[in-house]
Amino acid sequence: MTPYIDGHCHLNSPELRGELDRHIDEARSAGVQRMLVVGTDLRTSEEAISISKGYFDSGIRASVGIHPHDASSVSSSLPEELTDLAKDPVVVAIGEIGLDYHYDYSPCKVQRDVMISQILWAEEADLPIVFHVREAFDDFFSILRDYPVDPERAVVHCFSGSLEEAKSCLDLGFYLGFGGMITFKKADGIRECLASCPIDRVILETDSPWLAPVPFRGKINSPLNMPLIYKAAAEVLKVRDSVMADAVWTNGVNFYRWENE
Ligand SMILES: [Zn+2]
Ligand SMILES: [Zn+2]
Repeated sequence: MTPYIDGHCHLNSPELRGELDRHIDEARSAGVQRMLVVGTDLRTSEEAISISKGYFDSGIRASVGIHPHDASSVSSSLPEELTDLAKDPVVVAIGEIGLDYHYDYSPCKVQRDVMISQILWAEEADLPIVFHVREAFDDFFSILRDYPVDPERAVVHCFSGSLEEAKSCLDLGFYLGFGGMITFKKADGIRECLASCPIDRVILETDSPWLAPVPFRGKINSPLNMPLIYKAAAEVLKVRDSVMADAVWTNGVNFYRWENE
């Protein structure tokens, strides 16, 4: 059986990091052989790296970056402490970076500036990008016109935009990331986006500890729930479970240049 990949999780979050052995063992027993631990600021990026080093043989890798919520923490320029992290061989992506206008934890202008600096950083580091975009697609696309990212070198994780916005991301050659929300009753719009996404552009993720899939909605999520997300995605795309697993494995391994052991 093709193993599962959790393309985006936060094992470095307070909810999960206290019991890493358990969470990683449970997930691996359920067939989840790769997990990407995502940074959201300097500290969580460092933690993602240290978790990956500690559990390297368990298929854990790291991404480093500043989440739009934390954009104010780096203000005008990215600290060297942060940019140096991309040189670590366990780091397979820059992220999560982007724009989130739903909450104004950091001013929009600062979010845009920090997103741009990180696009340039990813280019220099030759790493793909994990984007987080919420209620900000107009500005997102406008930045990408001025600072283009190569096709197949970005994923818009936990996609929550419209069908039209999904198409625009796909036109740029990006991957779309889907998680527990595709199991939520009222998420027809997101399921429609997934249904319209070619299977070779789909990345699946838990975004744990958040967004636990049904029937665990509202509880603490962990990579263990990945199989439920695969099952839901296979139903939406109307493919066999094995076809879904093969496709997402190939996509994840190619996108994150994750060695195919
Ligand atoms: Zn996110
Ligand atoms: Zn995340």
